[in-house]
Order: sequence, then C-alpha cells, then structure tokens
Amino acid sequence: MSETIFTKIINREIPAEIVYEDDLALAFKDINPQAPVHLLIIPKQPIATANAITQDDREIVGHLYWVAGQIARRDGFADDGYRLVMNCNDDGGQTVYHIHVHMLAGKPLGWPPY
Ligand code: 5GP
Repeated sequence: MSETIFTKIINREIPAEIVYEDDLALAFKDINPQAPVHLLIIPKQPIATANAITQDDREIVGHLYWVAGQIARRDGFADDGYRLVMNCNDDGGQTVYHIHVHMLAGKPLGWPPY
C-alpha cells in the first residue's frame, strides 16, 4: 500500500502530539479534534482499512483497544467514559488509509453520528 501521513508521524517526519507509544502502536492527538479529547490510536504496521485486517492482524488490532483502556485509565477518564470508532472507506468517512481508532472523550457524546 502507499504510505500515508500516519507513517510519516510514526517515523517523526512530520510532527504530532504523541501521547502513547509502544512497539506495536502509537497514539497522538487528532489535528482537528471533534471532542475535548480526540486521539488517534494506530498500529505501527500499516493496514489500509478494516476490510484489509487479516487473521494474522488480530493481535495488533486487539492491541489498539487495549492501548485505549490504558490511556483512559492513565488520563483519568475511564470511569466517565469514551467512544472508540474505526471508520472504513467512503461511507464510513475514512480519509486516511492506515487504520486508526478514534478515541473521543471529555463530554457526553451524541448518538447516532448522522
Ligand atoms: P478518518 O477520517 O480517516 O477516520 O480519520 C482521519 C483523522 O486523521 C481525521 O480526524 C483527521 O483530523 C486526522 N488527521 C489527518 N491528518 C492529520 C495529521 O497530519 N495529523 C494529525 N494529528 N491528525 C491528522
């Protein structure tokens, strides 16, 4: 797949406000936040869309959700709550083709998102 802006963030070729990193994942603040807390949690290994997740990717995709819980507890909003969203392709509103979990928090969130 072609490289996206998120690979450049992983490689520190462009700046981002990184809030978490380990060997498999990176989390950073969304440049256009939609809530008081809006983070993007991404695998370091690029996967284009949710459709492209394979059996071999199960550990890394599960890891993204584990990271979310770690951040929520660390930053003190686990009990208040938060939303985790992965958009897929055009109808899902995906604009960056490197899978990412949006982590939204910091206020009661509306639903449904349309
Ligand atoms: P999607 O629309 O693919 O689900 O989400 C992509 C997200 O990436 C958007 O919320 C957008 O604001 C964010 N984004 C796009 N480019 C950048 C960037 O260069 N830096 C950061 N921090 N976020 C970005």
